[in-house]
Amino acid sequence: MALIVQKFGGTSVGTVERIEQVAEKVKKFRDGGDDIIVVVSAMSGETNRLIDLAKQISEQPVARELDVMVSTGEQVTIALLAMALIKRGVPAVSYTGNQVRILTDNAHTKARILQIDAQRIQRDIKAGRVVVVAGFQGVDEKGNITTLGRGGSDTTGVALAAALKADECQIYTDVDGVYTTDPRVVAKAQRLDKITFEEMLEMASLGSKVLQIRAVEFAGKYSVPLRVLHSFQEGPGTLITLDEEESMEQPIISGIAFNRDEAKLTIRGVPDTPGVAFKILGPISAANVEVDMIVQNVAHDNTTDFTFTVHRNDYNNALQVLQGIAAEMGAREVIGDTDIAKVSIVGVGMRSHAGVASRMFEALAKENINIQMISTSEIKVSVVIEEKYLELAVRALHTAFELDAPAGNTAE
Ligand code: ASP
Ligand code: MG
Repeated sequence: MALIVQKFGGTSVGTVERIEQVAEKVKKFRDGGDDIIVVVSAMSGETNRLIDLAKQISEQPVARELDVMVSTGEQVTIALLAMALIKRGVPAVSYTGNQVRILTDNAHTKARILQIDAQRIQRDIKAGRVVVVAGFQGVDEKGNITTLGRGGSDTTGVALAAALKADECQIYTDVDGVYTTDPRVVAKAQRLDKITFEEMLEMASLGSKVLQIRAVEFAGKYSVPLRVLHSFQEGPGTLITLDEEESMEQPIISGIAFNRDEAKLTIRGVPDTPGVAFKILGPISAANVEVDMIVQNVAHDNTTDFTFTVHRNDYNNALQVLQGIAAEMGAREVIGDTDIAKVSIVGVGMRSHAGVASRMFEALAKENINIQMISTSEIKVSVVIEEKYLELAVRALHTAFELDAPAGNTAE
């Protein structure tokens, strides 16, 4: 007998039929003897619909009122699911974030969970009820309704699992697990049985958006075993864990992540003197632009070139700031490039294996792909390349690191 938190996303509760299917699934687990807490999102599209309504009143709706409104999406699905369970003879009760008392700070539309009162839920569980909790929402100290940011129901699920010391937090979604890379790019991508929190964070922050990043951070911090599963297909899904078992068969690289959202800026011919990096990146950060990769070249003629990447949405803003800096510093020129992509290999196996980066560079060299920038961390090597080679690079690396599924065993 286990205590399991099951979170169902918007597409899994997108219609009444699907909510009935979710109820069937929950009933099956409960009939098997498990205690279940269910967290649900709003029906797919509902949160966007509500935000659109608010925007018809005001381009910048008051955040407190926006939270009062968007939190209703989840209130509808918890009630429907509880009804569907009760109809099937399963005792169930639904609660909003406020009713549980999921206490958050008062940062409306991006609140953080501070504390969860587990008592009420524990009483219901003891009494044999399935507890259905609204995702994405909480309440601040003063009783104002708050929300946790888009995709926040994942975080609700993990936080409840942590507070109740659940055996597992299962995230049901429209994919059957976490893949070695995007199956739309590499048909031979494989579902991973297991991945560590650290790896998942790198994969998620690089654009594999199966899970909200904050939820993965939270799960790692509180050691909540997380499992990503398909809502309506059978299968083991992908387990996200702390443990990094060392085995001979364990691949060195767990996945290839990529990201087309960055742009590159170079300021050429800046003086090679102390404080230059600060003079360049200080104003960039003051303009609220986050910098990702940075490269400073070796100086010649007492000047150097300085290159960095930013999110593509920030490109124009950063370019303007940089042109101002260049004029001030007497730099030679500013060059920008939005046709770039970042490709990363991710794996905790890198820690104990030498030569992983060179194997990556070899695979790219064989395809004649030029590397523009490189950055490394303990479990990741990233390169910036020309965007048009992105898919070729991902496929080449997937093969080079032996991640391709055996023939006939692909995602499709
Ligand atoms: N309904 C919210 C959203 O669409 C929260 C969630 O789905 O996790 O962002
Ligand atoms: Mg989601």
